[in-house]
Amino acid sequence: MIKTCDVAIIGAGPAGANAGIMAASQGCHTIIIDEQAMPGGQIWRAKSEAIKSAPMTPEIIDGDKLRVSIAESNLTHIANAKVWQIERELDEWVLHFIINGRSEKIGAKVLILATGAREYVQPTPGWTLPGVIGLAGATALMKRDLLTPGKRTVVSGTGPLVFFVASEIRRLGGEVAAIVTPNSRADWLRALPSMSYRTDLLRRGFVWVADLLLAGIPIFWRHAIKQIDGETKVHSVKVSKVSSDWSPKGPARLIEADSVCTGHGLQAASDASQLLGIDVKYQLELGGWVPEVEEDGITKINGLFICGDGAGIRGAAAAEIQGKLAGLSAAKSIRPEVNSSNSTLLNSYRRASRFGMAMTRLSIPRKGFQKLITQETIVCRCESLRRCDIENEIETGAATTNAVKSGSRAGMGPCGGKYCQSTIAKIIADRENQSEEKIAPPTPRPPLRPVSASALSGEFEYTDLQIPKPAPL
Ligand SMILES: Cc1cc2nc3c(=O)[nH]c(=O)nc-3n(C[C@H](O)[C@H](O)[C@H](O)COP(=O)(O)OP(=O)(O)OC[C@H]3O[C@@H](n4cnc5c(N)ncnc54)[C@H](O)[C@@H]3O)c2cc1C
Repeated sequence: MIKTCDVAIIGAGPAGANAGIMAASQGCHTIIIDEQAMPGGQIWRAKSEAIKSAPMTPEIIDGDKLRVSIAESNLTHIANAKVWQIERELDEWVLHFIINGRSEKIGAKVLILATGAREYVQPTPGWTLPGVIGLAGATALMKRDLLTPGKRTVVSGTGPLVFFVASEIRRLGGEVAAIVTPNSRADWLRALPSMSYRTDLLRRGFVWVADLLLAGIPIFWRHAIKQIDGETKVHSVKVSKVSSDWSPKGPARLIEADSVCTGHGLQAASDASQLLGIDVKYQLELGGWVPEVEEDGITKINGLFICGDGAGIRGAAAAEIQGKLAGLSAAKSIRPEVNSSNSTLLNSYRRASRFGMAMTRLSIPRKGFQKLITQETIVCRCESLRRCDIENEIETGAATTNAVKSGSRAGMGPCGGKYCQSTIAKIIADRENQSEEKIAPPTPRPPLRPVSASALSGEFEYTDLQIPKPAPL
C-alpha cells in the first residue's frame, strides 16, 4: 500500500514551503517533495554542509528562518526526490518520484504545484563553451558552494540578476570584467514607480549598483554579447551596442575573461500544470506561457492548486505570500471549516506582484535580440542542433514547436526541451512573421525529470526472471 496524505506539494521554495506550513497548521497531513537536499528553493538555497561557517547573507538568513519553521511544523519534507510523473487514480493524486535511485510513490487528496521557474538563456555564438553558465544558475553555485564562476567573469543579461550576480562574485573574491545588459538606464527609471512597492528590495538594488560603480566595474548599458570566443574554454567576449528593440548594431568591442554568466529572464515551470490539463495563457509580463490560476492558487481542476513562480514570474516575495494563500485554499478544500479569505495576505500579494512583474518586464528579451543567434549557433544543446537546422525544419513546413521536435529531435534530449523550446518558438515566430503568443508551447510529456531505466525496474537478478522452457517440437 502506498503512503497517503491530505496535501502533497511539489517544490519547497518560498511558495511551496509556505503553502505546506499553512496547510499543516490547519490540521492537514501534509507532505512536501523537493529535489534539493534542503528546503529554500532557488532564492533561499541552503549552504552546503561543508561551509556552514561562511558569512551570512540576507538570502541565507531568510532561508534559515524558513527551514526552522518547517522543522517546527507538522510538515513532512521529502528531500532529494524528483517527481517524474503525476497521475489521477479515482479521487486521489499519485506522485511518482525518484529517490535513492528508486522510483517511489505517494497518494494525496489534494496537490499543490509550487515548481518555480526556469531560466531562459538565449543562445549566442560560443555559449556552449566550458566557462559559460546561466546567470540564475550562477546564483546556485555561489549560494550553495560559495564558488565563483571563474577568475575573471563577464556578467551579462537582463533585469536585476546581473547586478546581484556581479555583486556576489565580488563578495566571494572574484573579478567582474564587465557588466553587459541590453536594458538602458531609462528602462530602469521607468520601472521605479512599480519598484516603490517594495522599498526594501529597491534599496538592496541601489546598493549593488553603487558598489559596482564605486569599484570601477564597467557597466555596458544597451549592450549585448555578440560572441563568446575560445577553443576549449572561454578566453574573450565580443560585445556590441543594441538598438531599442535590442537588435545588435555597430562594431564589437573585445573583453578578456575566462568565464561568462548570461541569462535573459525566467519562465514559469508549468510542465506539471500542463500535464494535468491546466490551460496555459501567454502573458509576456509574467514571463511567457503561464497556467490559468486564481490569486489564491485555485485552478479549474478540483483538488489542484498552483502557486509561486510556477504560476507566473512575480518573484520570491509574491511567491511566499501566494504560497500561504494556496495553502489556505488547499486546507479549506479538505476541511470546509477553515477560513481561507484573508484580505491582508491578498493585498500584500498584489503589492509584491507589482514589484516582481516590473522586474519580469525588464528581463523579457525584445524582438531584435534573437538576431544575435547566428545560423551556426547551437540552439538545442542536447542534440547539437544549430539555428540553421531548426530553420531547415521550418522550411519543410514545421510551423509548431511540436512539429520541429518530431522532425529534428530538438527537445528530445535529457532536458526534454526545457532549454531550447522557447528559442525555437521565437525562431518559428520570426520565420512565419507571427507574434510569439501564436506559437503554442510543446505538449509536455512525462517524465518531468529524467529517469533511469534501473530506477523504474528496481533491483532484480536476471536469474530470477522466469523464462519459459522451449516448447517441445
Ligand atoms: C536557478 C534560479 C536561481 C534564482 N536565483 C534567484 C536569486 O538569487 N534571487 C532572486 O530574487 N530570485 C532568484 N530566482 C527567482 C526565484 O526562484 C523566485 O522568484 C522564487 O524562488 C520563487 O519561489 P517558488 O517557491 O515559486 O519557486 P522556487 O524557489 O524555484 O522553488 C521551486 C522548487 O521546486 C523544486 N522542483 C520543481 N520541480 C520539481 C520536481 N519535478 N520534483 C522535485 N522538485 C521539484 C525546485 O527544485 C525548487 O526547489 C532564481 C530562479 C532560478 C530558476
